[in-house]
Amino acid sequence: MVTQYRNLINGKMIETGEWLDVINPANEEVIGQVPACGSEQLDSAVIGAREAFKSWKKASFEERQAACQAIAATIKENADELFRLLTSEQGKPHAQATQEIYGAAGLANAQSTLQLEEEIIQDDDTRLHRHRRVPVGVVGGIVPWNFPIMMAIQKIVPALMAGCTIILKPSPFTPLTTLRIAELIADKVPAGTVNIITGPDELGPMITQHPGIDKITFTGSTATGKKIMEGASADLKRITLELGGNDASIVLPDADPKKVAEQLFWSSFSNAGQVCVAAKRIYIHEDIYDELSQAIADYAKNVVVGDGAEQGTGVGPIQNKKQYERVLELIQDAKDNGYKFLTGGDKDPSGSGYYVPITILDNPPEDARIVAEEQFGPVMPLMKFSDTDEVIARANASDYGLAGAVWTGDPEKGVEIAEQLETGTVWINEFMHLSPFAPFGGHKQSGFGAEYGKEGLKEFTYPQVISVKKDNVVA
Ligand code: NAD
Repeated sequence: MVTQYRNLINGKMIETGEWLDVINPANEEVIGQVPACGSEQLDSAVIGAREAFKSWKKASFEERQAACQAIAATIKENADELFRLLTSEQGKPHAQATQEIYGAAGLANAQSTLQLEEEIIQDDDTRLHRHRRVPVGVVGGIVPWNFPIMMAIQKIVPALMAGCTIILKPSPFTPLTTLRIAELIADKVPAGTVNIITGPDELGPMITQHPGIDKITFTGSTATGKKIMEGASADLKRITLELGGNDASIVLPDADPKKVAEQLFWSSFSNAGQVCVAAKRIYIHEDIYDELSQAIADYAKNVVVGDGAEQGTGVGPIQNKKQYERVLELIQDAKDNGYKFLTGGDKDPSGSGYYVPITILDNPPEDARIVAEEQFGPVMPLMKFSDTDEVIARANASDYGLAGAVWTGDPEKGVEIAEQLETGTVWINEFMHLSPFAPFGGHKQSGFGAEYGKEGLKEFTYPQVISVKKDNVVA
């Protein structure tokens, strides 16, 4: 009998009697079941969240902070159990699952310090003009399967800090750790403030279109983001969308191949490449192309692909079958077109689990599917460039605009290039570093709005201006 996990609705752990199976991508075995919720359960979550909003919107900063810090402490106290569960449903190696669990607790603590101060626009003998931020109401949070816990926390905590209540839907592929956290925090936050419900993909549109929900905060693919924008337009719900990316890394000729090879490798292959801000196109200056591409391929040979629960695994399986088949399709397309592989490309047909070998391509053309599309898997196309303006144009020639990186011995030169990239974040000589205090969001079709920092917190609020005319005595 597999473990059955329940949903958190209005302070109570509930089940529906109908279950969805959750699979371990390392061996394709069912490891848990979660409730298959529909409109009935969503309606009760909305009623609970609306009721809780009446008092939570008046809660002090300290009360909100205490609830968020209780969530952080609970995650930390149970980290050992949680990271193992996360590996078993998501596939990422234990070390990376541990980072995600502790990272989520750290993020919750950091974001619990954020507040939006009131702004006094005018205060003189004639008028007091105040601008304050008020919570939008009940939030619907929808998250993907690549970082289920980080994504859940980065929606729950700012919602609570803003004075909103939230109904969060994890991905049907990775709901277990989130529901275990739900059980652990159920009596640590006021009933109805945090609700976590699971169901098939169809539950997503129900949330988007529910008239009792005031805002949607979504992380996932650009295709789904567009549907959400459309669904939310019926009653003009506020939306924040964090979507896909096809991030370019640019390596200048003054970068030392020995120093950057390993870092570039992990900028693409961490979490088996299933990272929205992974380096998905790597442009290397022709002067160092041969040496650096060889150094990356040599490094790759020592990285073990396997079950994330086993010691020594560097790259785990792809999280789900659909994504696994998509990545294999992109690799097959590269083979069919005769592109050159530095390593990988051939999958081991034996055994179970969604394993894709570490695959590095040698200078495929710009219009290759494996370059032009978001791979979201352990695949790294390396491309040669000779001129800075040309490589900036190639990096920007994308509908996406999430992040990018420049690797160089001259950080000032790196900043000069960074300022010309059309993305929400650019790193110089590092990758994937996000600050809880800086806005994170995509340009172009990589997103709408931002998360993190005060800018992210603002998205859970409306501006309200209160203007007191002082020199018009009416009584
Ligand atoms: P997805 O869009 O398929 O699913 C994301 C979530 O949306 C899931 O919970 C799913 O059940 C739900 N959903 C599906 N259809 C829906 C609909 N019509 N209406 C409402 N909800 C719906 O994405 P995924 O495959 O789970 O995640 C991978 C994608 O997420 C990649 O494109 C990746 O780049 C992106 N991503 C972006 C960020 C970021 O911060 N920008 C972070 C992580 C992942």
